[in-house]
Amino acid sequence: MIENDNRNVPEEERAVNEPETLLDHDLSRFELTPEEKAYEEMIRQRIRDRRRASERRRIKRNRTIALVIVVVIVFIVCRGCYASHRKKRDERKAKTKTTESRIEEVSSKPEEDTDSSGEEQPKIGHSIQNVDGLTYVDGILIVNKTYSLPQDYAPGISTAAQAAFDDMTAAAFNDGLYLYVNSGYRSYDEQYSLYYSYAQSRGVAEADRVSSRPGHSEHQSGLCFDVNSTDFSFSDTAEARWLAAHCADYGFIIRFPKGKEAITGYEYESWHIRYVGVEIAKEITSKGLCLEEYLGVTSSYDDAPDGISQQQYAEQLGVTVDDPEGGSSDDGSEDNTYDESYDSQG
Ligand SMILES: [Zn+2]
Repeated sequence: MIENDNRNVPEEERAVNEPETLLDHDLSRFELTPEEKAYEEMIRQRIRDRRRASERRRIKRNRTIALVIVVVIVFIVCRGCYASHRKKRDERKAKTKTTESRIEEVSSKPEEDTDSSGEEQPKIGHSIQNVDGLTYVDGILIVNKTYSLPQDYAPGISTAAQAAFDDMTAAAFNDGLYLYVNSGYRSYDEQYSLYYSYAQSRGVAEADRVSSRPGHSEHQSGLCFDVNSTDFSFSDTAEARWLAAHCADYGFIIRFPKGKEAITGYEYESWHIRYVGVEIAKEITSKGLCLEEYLGVTSSYDDAPDGISQQQYAEQLGVTVDDPEGGSSDDGSEDNTYDESYDSQG
């Protein structure tokens, strides 16, 4: 047998003599068996699956990111729209309020002797109630040149206002500032003496400029404080700046703000704060209003039910009007006593 002949030839010799046969034989060894092919195909399939899965994950992730971005953009746009909408609404409200106060100035003087409790004639957007001679607008007690307190109204300082003041001074103290009560509650009689002494020495016109007629001082309400100093230079102190920045957090407003003199009837008083509660104080302060604007009311003796002319009042007090200018400027301070702040007004 020819095949058997090779068996006797040494192996190295066989390799040299019959290379082709050997190569064929070896190559045949690397051909994959059907099982191996199936296995290989399975591996390839797995790799393809993994790639597809990872591709799907990538797409999903990108979609999620895109969705989040879209949501954020929509949110920002909506918020912008809402803010501008609100701003417009507030502007409209402010306009309406201004119109209301104008209407009131012209047409609706407070009614005389409405001693009966209950609602007076409705004024646009505000409810005015007279309870035992006290006037509440939207539930807030108003005391100014138009609205007075009865002579026998003597509540002392409000406990709520005092508690709020104590909290506020504690906070100021933590910030290294000392706030204290210069003047709190003032009775009708005390205010009468104060006003009368001005009227006697300088005439009613000047007294109206620098003080409040008895019954018309907010100090009689027990809801306000003069803080530290009633000198006009107080506005330049760190204490005054702190007070302006923080008093609303404790329910107080700067009652006679700068630039509102013609509306409040008083010059800017950085020291005079009025308690109205935290929510309302924050609203009034953030909107840059004075209390008269917020409530849609005036502050003028001409509008007051008990308001009489300076001439009449002078006669009633037994003093003179004594105003060399003949003017009737109502602007002045609620708070000036016999001190240099009177002189500082010139
Ligand atoms: Zn005051």
